[in-house]
Amino acid sequence: MPFNTIVVEQVSDTEVSVAVTELTEDQLPEGNVTVAVEYSTVNYKDGLCLQPNNGLVRNYPHVPGIDFAGTVESSDDSRYSVGDQVVLTGWRVGESHWGGFSQKARVNADWLVPLPEGITTRQAMAVGTAGFAAMLAVMALEDHGLKPDHGEVLVTGAAGGVGSVATTILGKRGYEVAAVTGRPETADYLKSLGATRIVPRSEIDTVTKRPLERETWAGCVDAVGGEMLARVLGQLKYGASVSAVGLAGGAKLPASVIPFLLRGVNLLGIDSVMQPYENRLRAWQRIASDLPMEKLEAMIQPATLSDVPSLGSEILQGKVKGRVVVDVN
Ligand code: NDP
Repeated sequence: MPFNTIVVEQVSDTEVSVAVTELTEDQLPEGNVTVAVEYSTVNYKDGLCLQPNNGLVRNYPHVPGIDFAGTVESSDDSRYSVGDQVVLTGWRVGESHWGGFSQKARVNADWLVPLPEGITTRQAMAVGTAGFAAMLAVMALEDHGLKPDHGEVLVTGAAGGVGSVATTILGKRGYEVAAVTGRPETADYLKSLGATRIVPRSEIDTVTKRPLERETWAGCVDAVGGEMLARVLGQLKYGASVSAVGLAGGAKLPASVIPFLLRGVNLLGIDSVMQPYENRLRAWQRIASDLPMEKLEAMIQPATLSDVPSLGSEILQGKVKGRVVVDVN
């Protein structure tokens, strides 16, 4: 039976074509589990993978989509049986391996996680890589000692995917959340998720000459990087940590080492792609317990496979609010 898939073809050195295309199962790559995909999502990295010369996709034709959730259709692996519900994020699926913008995906069983109790496949994709990384970021801050009574926690790129989920999780756990956004019109949305204060992006997106400013933040989940992350380092409280998740504002870090030396602050790297299985399970269990599903619902922008190309461009321009959920069927 043919099924629908988004296929990216290389047209020239500087151009790719992206189209919803029918494939058959014998065209799927090798793997020991075949999944009937129900939902996928659009992350920042998906936006990149839909562009030419993105540095992530090396072989064409390619099926993008770095995340998916669905039901096992066939399995040669003892850990998974037909009918099991599963979620996949990371492992370079959608980059070096065919991904989730498809009604069927064939993958290595090691990359799958059983869908946690109490979460649907749609909700899992409202979380997706962005939300999973946000959870890892909060876990890292707490593993480094952060507690709700320490003071305000900053979330940068707050109206985006990582930022929206981080704001919600922190709010649910009783933290005061200061949400940085360049889109003032998202203030009510961010407050409904759990933000207690809105910080305009322009207040914090350039470095100053002073490496240390007033000790303000008890912690930070940073989706932006660049000058904003450098600035945040100088505003952290003594001994506080920032989880560096993203680079929506740039990959360069024009920072001073002074905050590390005089305030003992910590810069924690967050990688969701190669995260070991045990920590993946821990993060998904924490998502099930710490992320209020009705707030997750408020973040969802529904989409279909044919919407993916335009949403890919929008997310790279910082225009997507919250989380896109793609119903591939
Ligand atoms: P989104 O586009 O949904 O969110 C990014 C947000 O950053 C935007 O919504 C915007 O928020 C803000 N932003 C965009 N451009 C700029 C800019 N030039 N300066 C300052 N702020 C800006 O993307 P995601 O949330 O999906 O991903 C965010 C980042 O995290 C990306 O760089 C992504 O690659 C990375 N990431 C990393 C992971 C990991 O494992 N480390 C996993 C998942 C994502 P607002 O409008 O509120 O200002």
